[in-house]
Amino acid sequence: MLNEQKAENHNSSVDDLWEKSLNSEVLIDLKKGEPLNEVIEKNFNPEKKISLDRIECSDGRCPHQGNDFSIAGSGILLSDEEFDKLIKEFPDLKKITAHSDCGAAKLAFAKLEEEGKLPEDITTPQEYAVYWTKNKAQQYGLEYEYIDEPQFQASNHHERGLLIDDTGSFHSAYVDGMPNVFVSHSASAVDKNYVAKEAEVLTGIAMGHHGFGNRLSPDQPFYIMVCSKDDKSMNDLVSKVSDATAAFKDRVKVEGFISPEK
Ligand SMILES: [Zn+2]
Repeated sequence: MLNEQKAENHNSSVDDLWEKSLNSEVLIDLKKGEPLNEVIEKNFNPEKKISLDRIECSDGRCPHQGNDFSIAGSGILLSDEEFDKLIKEFPDLKKITAHSDCGAAKLAFAKLEEEGKLPEDITTPQEYAVYWTKNKAQQYGLEYEYIDEPQFQASNHHERGLLIDDTGSFHSAYVDGMPNVFVSHSASAVDKNYVAKEAEVLTGIAMGHHGFGNRLSPDQPFYIMVCSKDDKSMNDLVSKVSDATAAFKDRVKVEGFISPEK
């Protein structure tokens, strides 16, 4: 099923992917005005739950089959200290992945280039992504895997939203009828200001000409869904992420829910 779906999506145009997203049950319910909490509760499928054992980029073109701990660029924008803390907090992680055409790797590369700190022989963001990821794999005894374009769910960006998980164990793949979204577990591992910045970057990709762009509107917004364990952390994150994405006005909708896994 997943493979058929992947083959069908793979060469789809952005217009086709957009049409498909309009049929997502979760988006249909949200458009009717049903509260996110109820929509998630209703469509949560505990049978799909698996443990998070690989680090993947948040990019919605990556596989995201539900066993991925996802964060922009697999963590390439974190400091070494932050990455170290993440690995220690999630000892089930066995693998780290890099992927082709990574936006986070481009940001990391540009920053190092500007500071004159690029490693010797590294001349492109792609090379840097592989270099950084292989280094982390070696340092922490993780397996390394490269996700190339043929393994993408679709060649084009087609994210209708962003799932931010603050519990360290929830995933959009556990919800039936979800549209394709960016996935980030960064909130469960690193500073909330990082999470807000990451949300801004990912929303920018969706809104840009590589993503659904102008198709996203107040009528069909980009949904940022924040999953938390309690109201306090949920409200705090919703507020930080709303501030960080305020420039996109009502083309973005930020809402929180309490994890249905009790
Ligand atoms: Zn990426």
